[in-house]
Amino acid sequence: MEQTLSIIKPDAVQKNVIGKIIERFESNGLRIAAIKKIWLSKADAKKFYIIHKERPFYNDLINFMVSGPVVVMVLEGENAVTKNRDLMGATNPKEAKPGTIRADFADSIDANAVHGSDSLENAKTEIAFFFGKRAIF
Ligand code: ADP
Ligand code: MG
Repeated sequence: MEQTLSIIKPDAVQKNVIGKIIERFESNGLRIAAIKKIWLSKADAKKFYIIHKERPFYNDLINFMVSGPVVVMVLEGENAVTKNRDLMGATNPKEAKPGTIRADFADSIDANAVHGSDSLENAKTEIAFFFGKRAIF
């Protein structure tokens, strides 16, 4: 059993498709172990995406992530990290396979609907960034 971090980004929250996205997780064997809706501070967004700080899109990414509230979740299930990444689809929605979350709900590489941890190790760090042990069930 694995846990991974998922974020429904501001574009998808604004589109009112939180439920539709969560349905993808639940109907594919992932369970919501923790969930909250929050508006990230700029400091938090910068810290969360610190691994991208040298990338040309870093500032745009931070500004986008603080442009509205997000939904942060811990997803739990067998191979949760890979399963979530598969359900999300490619970073660029134009390259995402039909039926993936990004193909169906995202408009651009910047506003791409969801975040998902890319490894078990990063999942642990990202989960701890948002949730204490007592908030995960
Ligand atoms: P993923 O979210 O698929 O793991 P990355 O970790 O590579 O993708 O990038 C983090 C986020 O930064 C992406 O989800 C996307 O919002 C943004 N991003 C990545 N690459 C680009 C790019 N070339 N131009 C603009 N934004 C980008
Ligand atoms: Mg990533």
